[in-house]
Amino acid sequence: MQTTLKGSCLCGAVRYEVSGEPTRFLHCHCSRCRKASGTGHATNLFLQPGTLDWLAGEEQVRAFKVPEAKRFTNVFCATCGSRLPRWIPELGGVVIPAGSLDDEAPIKPQARIFEGSRAAWSCSGDGLPAYAEYAPQ
Ligand SMILES: [Zn+2]
Ligand SMILES: [Zn+2]
Repeated sequence: MQTTLKGSCLCGAVRYEVSGEPTRFLHCHCSRCRKASGTGHATNLFLQPGTLDWLAGEEQVRAFKVPEAKRFTNVFCATCGSRLPRWIPELGGVVIPAGSLDDEAPIKPQARIFEGSRAAWSCSGDGLPAYAEYAPQ
């Protein structure tokens, strides 16, 4: 199933379009996602293979890679701080913070990952499979 989705940041300066195969849609409770999102978990949609095109505001896009992380990078709008998608060359795919989408996601969340790092107050209880760290491939 091939999909094309549009999204944008809170201030509207950055707009993007992503295309590809929706493979994974996960709530991640890891401590990095909690810090980066400011809430209990991140919710990320993966398109793989996938492409990312900035339609507007690319010059506003900033990236912070956690120095000790293999891959974890927070991509965001310099003006409003909203999280934005990221192209991952090693995977040939795109990870999209689902809250940045303006279109409806084509699939439903499949699992909760890094439950081992879950904050006690974070939401859950929807019956999704939960994994202490990464979901099995
Ligand atoms: Zn913005
Ligand atoms: Zn995470």
